[in-house]
Amino acid sequence: MKIAIPKERREHERRVAATPETVKKLIALGAEVAVEAGAGLSSRITDEAYEAAGATLVSDLNSLLGDADVVLKVQRPLLGGGDQPDELSPMKKGALLIAGLSPYAEPDAIKRYAEAGVTAIAMEFVPRITRAQSMDILSSQSNLAGYRAVLEAAYVYDRAMPMMMTAAGTIAPARVMVLGAGVAGLQAIATAKRLGAIVSATDVRPAAKEQVESLGGKFVMVESDETKEAETAGGYAKEMSEDYKRKQAELVAETLKKQDIAICTALIPGRKAPTLINDEMVHSMRPGSVIVDLAAEQGGNCTLSKPGEVVDVNGVSIIGHYNIPSRLSADASSLFAKNLLNYLTPLVDAESKALKVDWEDEIVAASVLTRDGQVVHSAFQSEQ
Ligand code: NAD
Repeated sequence: MKIAIPKERREHERRVAATPETVKKLIALGAEVAVEAGAGLSSRITDEAYEAAGATLVSDLNSLLGDADVVLKVQRPLLGGGDQPDELSPMKKGALLIAGLSPYAEPDAIKRYAEAGVTAIAMEFVPRITRAQSMDILSSQSNLAGYRAVLEAAYVYDRAMPMMMTAAGTIAPARVMVLGAGVAGLQAIATAKRLGAIVSATDVRPAAKEQVESLGGKFVMVESDETKEAETAGGYAKEMSEDYKRKQAELVAETLKKQDIAICTALIPGRKAPTLINDEMVHSMRPGSVIVDLAAEQGGNCTLSKPGEVVDVNGVSIIGHYNIPSRLSADASSLFAKNLLNYLTPLVDAESKALKVDWEDEIVAASVLTRDGQVVHSAFQSEQ
């Protein structure tokens, strides 16, 4: 079994799909591991470190991909066209491509994986069951994003976060509101608390209340029977009714005008991110306030955020950076690579050291998009 780790070529991507630690473990599974030269440099991993772990370095992308039974990546492959290289066509028919494939954002690409004969596996679709926790890229990356979002805000905020009582006077603690208390939101709450801020948070899932409070945050939420149904079996939020959205907007507007920093993390899988902060609410914040919109690439929780930009609206900075986990590339790569290793390990037969995939397994069945030239995932059957 040959495993390839290409360098990530998408813009704003600094992560890599294997580390020397996971390379050693992949080799222990019986694999030969080839890494593209320079693949780890943006995550502070040298070619020498990969070689010392037992990987072979390959400079030519086409031969690296063409030789592999398994390709591990962070992001979906580039499909050629314009100045882009084609990272899909060189792959062998039947090869496993295991990566964060952003399937909802890129449904057309799924058809291309099928046409290429590649077995495409979307790590985002790994179900949130106990057995799969160690494979969960959404959690490992969101956790880092939540942490980093608070640091991005603290850096731009031209005041201090903690209360400081000094001989020259007292500095008031910052007030931070976190919108969406999932994995990223909870880490944002914990980070803002550690920096000394007064933190409040909101969510549509009542289960979030206890989690927010256990971190020392104040939970604010629209009381409504609708919230009893707000959580799917997978633990994700559903889109709420127009009536709920109106009440929630009133609550957020009332809370937000007393805040210095807002960290937006609310997402609904497969849909545009919910709008939680409108233009008027931004204008109600005092100059010097900061909004970090982690949902900017999914349509934004704030109407005025712009993906990839920091905009200034009447002195309120709205941060919409791309790919926040990539800003912590060394740790983000380390955790992502372990998620991939943990996914792949049960697919390898311990005796023969060859791939032996149980296609009926709950985790595999939920995450395989294409196989034998067909789109097999039920969410995308119409993409055939
Ligand atoms: P996510 O990234 O899909 O969304 C982030 C948060 O935004 C969620 O808490 C969601 O409820 C919230 N949200 C959505 N719409 C909103 C709105 N209109 N207003 C306010 N908040 C809104 O979610 P996530 O971080 O991936 O976590 C989803 C759930 O899965 C959580 O309950 C989490 O604890 C759970 N989880 C379970 C496991 C596991 O069991 N293995 C692993 C990770 C997360």
